[in-house]
Amino acid sequence: MFKKILIANRGEIALRIQRACREMGVQAVVVYSEADREAKYVKLAEEAVCIGPAPSAQSYLSMPAIISAAEVTDAEAIHPGYGFLSENADFAERVEKSGFQFIGPTPESIRIMGDKVSAKQAMIKAGVPCVPGSEGELPDDPAHIRRIAKSVGYPVIIKAAGGGGGRGMRVVHTEAALIHAVQTTKAEAAAAFGNPAVYMEKFLQNPRHIEIQVLADQHRNAVYLGERDCSMQRRHQKVIEEAPAPGIPRKLIDKIGERCVAACKRIGYRGAGTFEFLYEKGEFYFIEMNTRVQVEHPVTEFITGIDIVKTQIMVAAGEKLPFTQRQIGIRGHAIECRVNAEDPFKFTPSPGRITMWHAPGGPGVRVDSHVYTNYFVPPNYDSMIGKIIVHGDTREQAIARMRTALAEMVVEGINTNVPLHRELMVDAKFMEGGTNIHYLEHWLTDHKR
Ligand code: ADP
Repeated sequence: MFKKILIANRGEIALRIQRACREMGVQAVVVYSEADREAKYVKLAEEAVCIGPAPSAQSYLSMPAIISAAEVTDAEAIHPGYGFLSENADFAERVEKSGFQFIGPTPESIRIMGDKVSAKQAMIKAGVPCVPGSEGELPDDPAHIRRIAKSVGYPVIIKAAGGGGGRGMRVVHTEAALIHAVQTTKAEAAAAFGNPAVYMEKFLQNPRHIEIQVLADQHRNAVYLGERDCSMQRRHQKVIEEAPAPGIPRKLIDKIGERCVAACKRIGYRGAGTFEFLYEKGEFYFIEMNTRVQVEHPVTEFITGIDIVKTQIMVAAGEKLPFTQRQIGIRGHAIECRVNAEDPFKFTPSPGRITMWHAPGGPGVRVDSHVYTNYFVPPNYDSMIGKIIVHGDTREQAIARMRTALAEMVVEGINTNVPLHRELMVDAKFMEGGTNIHYLEHWLTDHKR
């Protein structure tokens, strides 16, 4: 096992990884920007290194700053968390070339999965069902593009091969709008992602977002830890996640889970990963793979009892997965609400000083957050300041627990989306379960204030 790990991230995930290290008897080094000097993950750390000023480009995205922090502290491995450099193949490569273990997949795996066209091709080869669409990148010839769209069938969606974060996508309903849409998306993709390649998919009308969590070691063992339903989204950003997915037969999940495991073995995947699917009318369609730990990993930890972050560290150190697929059971139901520093209905960011923070507790309640009373939320980063996760024997019990937890949650001094979560937890359609990816957007339009 490693003696010391450097955590190349901030906020709640830096604290989450630090906790895993502490439990394992591994020393953790945290890094921070000048804006994060006061964060809880820094205060609790045995060792902390300032890596630069507030802007991410000069701190959390600076490869030389992070690698030299690992060098001066004698760390052996680097955990990238999520966001920032976590899915940057060049970073993973530089980490390994500098003599550290990257806690994640190989640079090659990250590279294949980071390009959505090559990821889809790899999945098709591995027998994972994908959204019907163009075979690879779209050609330049307009007549050829029109023929592809005709065979896929309208509406179609044009997506950037290098896209991410819900950007670089355009829906096309008619042939008349097609060529212009392709050209605009290409130009945007070139500017935003440095890669003009785009591809085409059938635009599914009312899907749900269902994802499969996998874990793989370096000895060709891989397992799936069930699914998560992340359909409650605003602007393609997840707001509430839960596991299991309401109403989807276990048999269907097992079938797609086994495909994901087979794909991991085929591509020599290692570490934690997530296969994201759209689910419509009983069918799964792969859209992308995330090659890192995800924000919503705690719901899976609750229903399986498996510590995903500890397992990531173990397999990076070369250990075998400590369980087989048959030993993984699903117990009860878990829900996560992301707490964001923003206006609950207008969504304008609300950084600033938290004058009062009181987190809920009790059976089956977990709060992952790096903030506290008197903490200043810097304006420089993502607005998420914590996550409330609950577990119950049934979905009804989990919802009841979440309502209680949200009622106990006190945040003063800044706005948060806690009031929005309180309303969603008593919404009849949410309580029924199985809402699609457009539900929250429509709900927000209907509940405008
Ligand atoms: P990103 O990497 O930017 O998150 P994804 O490919 O994961 O992009 O897609 C993000 C979201 O966009 C999905 O969760 C879904 O809401 C929507 N989306 C993507 N592809 C399709 C499609 N073929 N049909 C309908 N919606 C889609």
